[in-house]
Amino acid sequence: MITVLKFGGTSVGSAEAIARSAKIIANGEGGRVAVVSAMSGVTNHLIQFLETDGASADDALSILIKKHTDAAAALLDGKLLKEFTKEFNERVDRLRELLNSGNAGDAYFRDNISSQGERFSSLLLSYVLMSMGRESIALTSEEAGIYATGPPGLGTADLQRTSAGLMMNVRPLIMRNVIPVITGFYGRDGDGRPITFGRGGSDYSAAVVANGLDADCLEIWTDVDGFMSADPRIVPGAIMIDEMNFGEAAELAYLGAKVLHPRTIEPVRTKHIPLKVRNSFKPEHQGTLIHHLRSPKNEMLRSVAMKADLSIITVSSAEIAYRPKMVAGIIDKIADAGVIVYAISTSLSTVALLIHNLDVKETLRHLNLLDPADIERIDVKSNMALICAVGDDLLRKCGVSAEIFGAVRDAGANVELISEGASDVSLNFVVPTDKAISVVRSLHTKFVGE
Ligand code: ASP
Ligand code: MG
Repeated sequence: MITVLKFGGTSVGSAEAIARSAKIIANGEGGRVAVVSAMSGVTNHLIQFLETDGASADDALSILIKKHTDAAAALLDGKLLKEFTKEFNERVDRLRELLNSGNAGDAYFRDNISSQGERFSSLLLSYVLMSMGRESIALTSEEAGIYATGPPGLGTADLQRTSAGLMMNVRPLIMRNVIPVITGFYGRDGDGRPITFGRGGSDYSAAVVANGLDADCLEIWTDVDGFMSADPRIVPGAIMIDEMNFGEAAELAYLGAKVLHPRTIEPVRTKHIPLKVRNSFKPEHQGTLIHHLRSPKNEMLRSVAMKADLSIITVSSAEIAYRPKMVAGIIDKIADAGVIVYAISTSLSTVALLIHNLDVKETLRHLNLLDPADIERIDVKSNMALICAVGDDLLRKCGVSAEIFGAVRDAGANVELISEGASDVSLNFVVPTDKAISVVRSLHTKFVGE
């Protein structure tokens, strides 16, 4: 039995938090592997160094040094504190040299710097585990064998190579009852350069480790209780979701429920490894269990999420539907603009796309490169919100849409765009932002509870 446990920045953000997290790791049964984020604030600080002209390496290091040495002084003593301090200082010296050696305009250098915080938090956590009498070792992603491909800042794990690396470097340690503590957030590319998985990417790292080791369970330990039926700031009566399947969790994570990085689902979904979201500050709380099974309960809606600050761009052109090249051309321009499209809807003579308000300018700039003879008009409707109603098997049940849109009507909102059927666990539609909160509340009251 192997469990991968991931601890986020706040879960290793102070001496108390580290002690709580280490206890969670040490007290569990079976083989355990930890994956950690940098202590909270450290990554931001390193990135700030990169973004500030003439920033000094010592300023950049000051917070990192203080946070780790304060926590170490509170949690370690005697020989372990001495050994930790020695290793920590060596790493600090290497980082100081690194900070002074590169050019912030180089994307590889940026990823190298921004991924450094994890190397210090993993070292500290492994020493704290040793102080609790467990055998433990800190491993960097390079040492563990986590391989990444893709551009800096947007890396993707090479699952096959990573699995081979982890089986060779990490699994034997687990079998000897040692607890490896691995750096989250990045992998190494073919040339050994660190490539990060994007901000918040340690959740994804942990899922990649679980995949590579064929783990039995992935636990994401964070600072919230788990997924909820709605954002409690909008719906005070929102309830905890005890259990849901990967499809539902993926939609909710993607739509901005900040519980889990959206990329975390895929590496564990493909191997049917159950994922638990737990609160490291309240370990007695069961959290949310996410698995591949369909829901045994027959609830129609599990959760209602919303994303505001979106715009609908409508491109009109005569009989677009009969000119597939035209549709391809529009999509091509959107790809050139590099923007995320949250929904698409088409009719005989229009293609409507839902994008972020901030992406409108860039999108229009690219769409305007289309042949003017082909385009009749481009309209923009801003301040729209995407509502995402998530439920297992939602769209296989007859009459569900009618009931959902009934609740939208009760909230007095006009539906501006619908994306239905693309996923069988979610019904997505767009309403004006000023109606979005009443729509979420209306849906929640009707299908989940007050
Ligand atoms: N430390 C990284 C970040 O702040 C990765 C993570 O915490 O998941 O984005
Ligand atoms: Mg996070």
